[in-house]
Amino acid sequence: MTDTDPQVADDGPVRFMPQLISLDYTVRTNPVAAAFGEALADGRITGHRCPSCSLVFVPPKGFCPICTIETTSADEVVIEDRGMVTAWTVLTPIQYHGQQERKDYALASILLVGADGTVGQQRLIDIPLDEIRPGLMVEAVWAAPEDRVADDRGYGLGTAIDGWKATGEPDAPASEYEGHTL
Ligand SMILES: [Zn+2]
Repeated sequence: MTDTDPQVADDGPVRFMPQLISLDYTVRTNPVAAAFGEALADGRITGHRCPSCSLVFVPPKGFCPICTIETTSADEVVIEDRGMVTAWTVLTPIQYHGQQERKDYALASILLVGADGTVGQQRLIDIPLDEIRPGLMVEAVWAAPEDRVADDRGYGLGTAIDGWKATGEPDAPASEYEGHTL
């Protein structure tokens, strides 16, 4: 009997599947996302300010989800690359083939200064997990310019920003972020 014998899986211990698989796919990029990605490559985070309700959404989607009206490059504003943590999750990596993570790490939702919505799934770096709290001020750690390249998943903040580190500023008051906590 070998590890690849299908009978092993019936009543034996759980084992890693010996076969490797791959899936190739491409995300088609729309002009709004492409402009966002180009700005990121230049070290700028951009959003769209709705001309009706004045809320700023980042990344821009080309419309205001509240007013359901179109927004364009004329509504583009630059957002600061710093903000406050509103919520976070600590992840414990499970080990699988190709897994690079070895230690627990945190992904956070961050309300950037100048934006009215949070950006999610942002990696916190060099911050002890037990020191993460709502209102903690963080700033972007930008990738080297030559490494700010969109991948097959499109133009997310992660294509240009490696993570977020604490700024050392006093925490933001709850009144600034309480409407954005989960
Ligand atoms: Zn609006």
